Amino acid sequence: MGLFSKDIQTMDDLFMHTLRDIYYAEKQVKKALPKMAKKAVDPALKAGFETHLEETKGHIERLDQVFTLMGVKPKGVTCDAIDGILKEAESVMAEVSDEHVLDAAMVAAAQAVEHYEITRYGTLSTWATEMGRPDVATLLKQTLAEEEATDKKLSKLAKGHVNQAAAA
Ligand code: FE
Ligand code: FE
Repeated sequence: MGLFSKDIQTMDDLFMHTLRDIYYAEKQVKKALPKMAKKAVDPALKAGFETHLEETKGHIERLDQVFTLMGVKPKGVTCDAIDGILKEAESVMAEVSDEHVLDAAMVAAAQAVEHYEITRYGTLSTWATEMGRPDVATLLKQTLAEEEATDKKLSKLAKGHVNQAAAA
């Protein structure tokens, strides 16, 4: 870090930057989920958002543990990708008038968020393993599994009835 050198020089630096990116992202998701739960009319979707809000709080705690294991103070760094995904979600949600179509739009937006998290946790857990930190990799893989499960639940809800209700 300095005037004459770039901030990210080593794999350790890159890992830490990406960890801070997902830390910021999880905190933004934590802010967005209650709004989505409030707007959802389908009871299963509403419950799904509420459940994932609790899981998301757990993801933040797990990241706190990862920072501690790495001997670093937890800190986020602005993640343009999640800001963009959430901004797009908000603008689409604001455009939709029908409440069932809004449910379908929120499932789609939530899946974009989950896919972003899946890519980040997949990369971070692989890097942690390669850096000889199986302890860190285990924590990251636990969250990865929850994000994947959430994505599958959202697909099931969409195909099960949310999309049909929106199309009716
Ligand atoms: Fe998460
Ligand atoms: Fe998630």
